[in-house]
Amino acid sequence: MMVTAAPPTGWIFDIRRYSLHDGPGIRTTVFLKGCPLDCWWCHNPESQSPQPEIIVREHLCTQCGECVRACPQEAVSMTPQGPHTDPALCTRCGECVPFCAPGAREQVGQPYTPQALADILARDIPFFDQSGGGVTFSGGEPLLQAEFLSAALAACKRLELRTAVDTSGFAPWQRLESIAPQVDLFLYDLKVQDEGAHRRFTGVSNQLILENLRRLNDRGSRIIVRLPVIPGLNDTPAEAAALGSLCRQLDGIQRVDLLPYHHTAAAKYQRLGREYRLPDTPTPSPDHLNALAQQLRAYGIAVQIGG
Ligand code: SF4
Ligand code: SF4
Repeated sequence: MMVTAAPPTGWIFDIRRYSLHDGPGIRTTVFLKGCPLDCWWCHNPESQSPQPEIIVREHLCTQCGECVRACPQEAVSMTPQGPHTDPALCTRCGECVPFCAPGAREQVGQPYTPQALADILARDIPFFDQSGGGVTFSGGEPLLQAEFLSAALAACKRLELRTAVDTSGFAPWQRLESIAPQVDLFLYDLKVQDEGAHRRFTGVSNQLILENLRRLNDRGSRIIVRLPVIPGLNDTPAEAAALGSLCRQLDGIQRVDLLPYHHTAAAKYQRLGREYRLPDTPTPSPDHLNALAQQLRAYGIAVQIGG
């Protein structure tokens, strides 16, 4: 009897339909959990851990204490401010979630098989066909779940869907190389050109990221570079010059998208009980974004403000 391997399970924290900012046309964006980077400006902090996580929406909590009683690890205690979950004791099992009647507790990250995901994605085929859109895998860093990503991309291709992968590029080249034939477009995040600053603000060197970008370009992949514009961190003339001269050398780069920093993630950090490291950093003004775009266009690069 032939034994077939079980399909890989992917941990997904969101599936967002009708997105207009993650590639051409109308997209369904699949957010995979887990990221090897630790960017100070991350707007999806719930994506960073590869494990499921428990978030608490304090404004919904009635302080009923059901989560305290439900937790088999005794990780939750009631304080005058409401329930406190000890991160050292919580195993992220999710058992407390169904006991929270007001829905204040939520488990972020659910398991999917590639086929279960494909069944969801197939619902939007009419929108993809009419708009030239498709499916975008994002995160987190989708390449952290390379086996699932590869299987999910293959399932998309069986449905003849256009695919994009939004990546930091921080992964062994073999992972990028193995999925590249199934990816119609890479959304490639380049965060900081200066290596020391990249280490400081993301936790890792940018050398592998830049090397992988060149290799993707050399194999003929279509690439849109995405730059999160963080005032005071990566928007200096020297940074723009380094990015412009890099992109000018790589003919697979179709465009650079400037993604302005914003504060919408602040509440997520609070729900996760994590520090929000850039509370005083402003959103870049339209004039500033236009000036940055002009500087990059001087290198012969197409630039778009927004994704
Ligand atoms: S996720 Fe599990 S361990 Fe964590 S607080 Fe809830 S019940 Fe307790
Ligand atoms: S079960 Fe929900 S509403 Fe009740 S104390 Fe816990 S978090 Fe608050």
